[in-house]
Amino acid sequence: MSYLASNKRYSSMEYRFCGDSGLKLPLISVGLWHNFGGNSMSTEAKKILFKSFDAGITHFDLANNYGPPYGSAETNFGKLIKSDLGKYRDELIISSKAGYDMWDGPYGEWGSKKHVIASCDQSLKRMKLEYVDIFYSHRFDPNTPLEETADALESIYRSGKALYVGVSSYSAKKTNEMIKILKGRGVKLFIHQPSYSLINRWIEKGLTKTLINNGVGCIAFSPLAQGFLSNKYLSGIPKGTRVSENSSFSKDLITKKNTQIINDLYKIAKKRGQSLSQMALAWVLNNKAVTSALIGVRTVEQLNENIDALKNLKFSKSELYMINQKAIEGDINLWAPSSAH
Ligand code: NAP
Repeated sequence: MSYLASNKRYSSMEYRFCGDSGLKLPLISVGLWHNFGGNSMSTEAKKILFKSFDAGITHFDLANNYGPPYGSAETNFGKLIKSDLGKYRDELIISSKAGYDMWDGPYGEWGSKKHVIASCDQSLKRMKLEYVDIFYSHRFDPNTPLEETADALESIYRSGKALYVGVSSYSAKKTNEMIKILKGRGVKLFIHQPSYSLINRWIEKGLTKTLINNGVGCIAFSPLAQGFLSNKYLSGIPKGTRVSENSSFSKDLITKKNTQIINDLYKIAKKRGQSLSQMALAWVLNNKAVTSALIGVRTVEQLNENIDALKNLKFSKSELYMINQKAIEGDINLWAPSSAH
């Protein structure tokens, strides 16, 4: 039987306007980078998406190469759109991106107009969509003029293949340049998708100011530092985790020093009545530049725990002070662009 969404789906989620636009995003959004690829979507993965939407999570984030193999998360998501979620299309904000390696040859990655437009067309086909809500340039390309990448984004926007356009992991400097170029073409840079967590603060060194000053929204990816900011790595590396599976999160980051930091942070979370992941999400959302925290989850249990973070979003001054004392020592800076970019 086809999925039917809960009729209570808008009863508890909070939404924030994305920058100075009229579009609201849920405080928590779900990304399909891990756990949604392969030949078909697992039962648990489907449940995650259904339970997310039941909880008012209207935004799902994808990219051309999410899988593995590349493209399979979009293909699987497209099947779900056809079978179950399509009837809610007007309630969903779906995003995709182009820029990382996707297919062989000189046009399979980066920021050329050729790559970005072809990739967007491929994503739409895989997801069986006429348009995505947001389309991103996934990374700054130092070998392509920014005007050309902007040209591709403008073309995608004007052709109606995306309602809004964004950039991901661009530095403050390149974001400023992109804002100006797009503005000159009558297009608004709608959103930035940077990595951000309480142990990864690079956006605070200029980017957040740029976004606020220009009314650009911000969706923070890896707010749990890929799961490091959860209770599970407090005393080792459990099985069935990204680290134990040698996945995108390297065990080199699980140093003695970093483990001490998360244990210290956990003590603060516990006093707030939260798990470490709940405090980490609440903390990201405490930054007024941030529109939404973009999480990944492996299980419905993780999803539910993370949604419960919304029950306590307030921090006292002393909590924030203590968190800063502990967390800044970590400063892992995953995906932070170099200052030249
Ligand atoms: P994340 O939320 O920081 O990490 C997700 C991982 O944390 C999960 O797979 C799980 O790891 C663990 N986790 C989540 N909730 C947990 C809980 N309550 N307890 C214990 N562990 C928990 O985010 P992410 O997956 O790195 O990134 C989220 C999304 O951001 C992606 O899906 C993608 O859409 C986007 N993203 C974008 C870029 C970009 O370049 N623009 C890059 C990366 C990600 P285990 O699987 O180990 O259990």
